[in-house]
Amino acid sequence: MRIPLSAPDITEAEIDAVAAVLRTPQLSLGAKMIEFEAALGDYVGVPHAVAVNSGTAGLHLCIRALGLGEGDEVIVPSFTFIAAANAIRYERASPIFVDVDAASLNISAIDIERAITPRTRAILVVHTFGRPADLRPIVKLARRHQLVLIEDACEAIGAEYEGRKVGSFGDAAVFAFYPNKQITTGEGGMIVTPSPELAARMRTLRNQGRRPDDGWFQHTELGYNYRLSEINCALGIGQMRRLDEILALREQVARRYDALLSGTKGLILQGIDPPGMRISWFVYVVRLSAAFSTDDRDAIMRTMHHAGIGCGRYFAPIHLQPSYSDYAGQRPLPVTEFESKRTLALPFFNRISDTQIAEASSTLIASINARCGENT
Ligand SMILES: *Cc1c(COP(=O)(O)O)cnc(C)c1O
Repeated sequence: MRIPLSAPDITEAEIDAVAAVLRTPQLSLGAKMIEFEAALGDYVGVPHAVAVNSGTAGLHLCIRALGLGEGDEVIVPSFTFIAAANAIRYERASPIFVDVDAASLNISAIDIERAITPRTRAILVVHTFGRPADLRPIVKLARRHQLVLIEDACEAIGAEYEGRKVGSFGDAAVFAFYPNKQITTGEGGMIVTPSPELAARMRTLRNQGRRPDDGWFQHTELGYNYRLSEINCALGIGQMRRLDEILALREQVARRYDALLSGTKGLILQGIDPPGMRISWFVYVVRLSAAFSTDDRDAIMRTMHHAGIGCGRYFAPIHLQPSYSDYAGQRPLPVTEFESKRTLALPFFNRISDTQIAEASSTLIASINARCGENT
């Protein structure tokens, strides 16, 4: 794509920092990991941070370390990335999908409460596209029903709810650093938690079940290799240093798109300034109005692709995935199913130029107008 959907932003200084690690003998479980963990924990305002080699691994360790398993129900959105629900299934717990709110595309306390049964043990709330879920009533609900609260903050590093960073509300939260995220380590993730016991357990689980005082061939429990290398951590430290600047750049891009696209007939914008929240811009997603079909959306996407402009759908509902065919009998999720057919993600990355934003916007508007003409 001439204008890609996403693009990592890595400086020469960060490349040098990675190269410097390669000149040392310590490529895993070293000082860079400790520094990266401290930087992220401080930033989010949570005392314990545990680096892992993906966001998915982080979510899995949350489910595992919090003792969720067979017979336990975990409430989760279907309108999100599949890793959130998969992590629940890895431990044979049951994902219970709830619908999202049409305006925010996040799950709400009202819908969560309706899904609570005697088997419910946890809520896995996702801050979709970097917009915080409405956390205050969700935290209250979790307390009232004695449910574990896990935040999937993989799309939301730096997002704020009532002045506090997301990731600081749950019993544990997870961030992710795949190349399309706000900051990247190539692959990587980070769990944060206020609980020292939980953090210690997660450190053991990520390192083949070795406790800190275990020898290299002593494994206290069944664990995994979820370690994040020093190479990745060195990049993460550099990216963390620029995080505020990166989030400001991304917000500016979102505002540019909004200015160019607002007022376009048939197009629904996500909204920039939800009250009491600060969005951390992960992707810029617009929705087509009910007047358009999925075929219209896909045709518009093809027009964008032919013009060399990256464009994607976000998300395909999890409960409709082939790997979730066992869940086919679950309650329908009308908002999830309706909205997921109408989303379009536009090119969105730190260094996108004004010209590129303008071209993506005008191509989108022209192809929407062309479809409108055909429809009426
Ligand atoms: C990116 C992401 C993850 C984690 O993805 P990894 O590729 O495993 O790092 C988890 N949940 C959501 C909602 C995500 O967007």
